[in-house]
Amino acid sequence: MKTVVAVQDLLEVDIKPDELLDEFVRLTERDVRRVLVPRATLGIRCPGCDHGESAAAFDKLGLTYRECRRCGTLFVSPRPPQDAIDEYYRSADASRFWRERVVPATVAARSEKVAMPRAQWVADGIAEHLPGAAAGVDLSPNAQPFAAALRELVPGVRIAASVPSAAGEADFAVAFDVLDRCADPRALVAALHRALRPGGLLFVVTPSLSGFDLQVMWDRSRTITPPDRMNLFTLRGLRELFASGWQIREISTPGMFDAETVRRAILSDPRGDWPRALRAILIDSGPEVLADFQEFLQRHRLSSFGRLTLQKVA
Ligand SMILES: [Zn+2]
Repeated sequence: MKTVVAVQDLLEVDIKPDELLDEFVRLTERDVRRVLVPRATLGIRCPGCDHGESAAAFDKLGLTYRECRRCGTLFVSPRPPQDAIDEYYRSADASRFWRERVVPATVAARSEKVAMPRAQWVADGIAEHLPGAAAGVDLSPNAQPFAAALRELVPGVRIAASVPSAAGEADFAVAFDVLDRCADPRALVAALHRALRPGGLLFVVTPSLSGFDLQVMWDRSRTITPPDRMNLFTLRGLRELFASGWQIREISTPGMFDAETVRRAILSDPRGDWPRALRAILIDSGPEVLADFQEFLQRHRLSSFGRLTLQKVA
């Protein structure tokens, strides 16, 4: 199974010193409350299955997460509109700190451990499902290392940074860490569907709420923080999101850090209310069991790192 890590996973392992991360978290908490909470006026249906009924789950930074009663997807509602989210990513102190301090400090690790494996995955997907694909769209934040890596693997490939206005122009589209933070994922998926030609490919990376890490950690998870993670789809929610007009070519969870994340959470809060079985598996059994357990999660789509390849139905 391929070794692909999410940015959030990388935060856990590769940012040194920890003060960088602490400062980013501090700024995020302040800016979300100051900039986004006052604009959070849009009540929405489930962004996965479009069901109208949901239940309040918990609050984070002044925003309310709700859980879909049909597919279990977790989403912020009411939420700020897309222009407020765009403005936050453009000019909030937290976003600037991320771009100016965190990204440069982690660029080597992210290029090697994130961009390269993702480019290889996309290149393999193109070779398998749409050989000759050249015109791409990449909506992912901080996309340059990925684009550079993909150009090396797929000579002649062209990558635009926004959805083309003309329908059916693009051969493939890339949305890494995009669906989890946009105001209207269903509208974005529809726009990408229009932009692709018949048989065109869409590559998606997004957390899976069905995974072990997020299921155990739930409201305690640092991954579940707005605005980066306003939409946390279950696998069922993702299947529903792509139920019409798409063929799902791959749906997998090749995450590497679920067991380790939960293990460290237990160690840092040993008196916490953790299931006894988790202590037995993750604390008392040793590294070999931990590795086997993570592999088990990957194999059964139970890691919290989700990855999909979709093909537009011709
Ligand atoms: Zn739903």
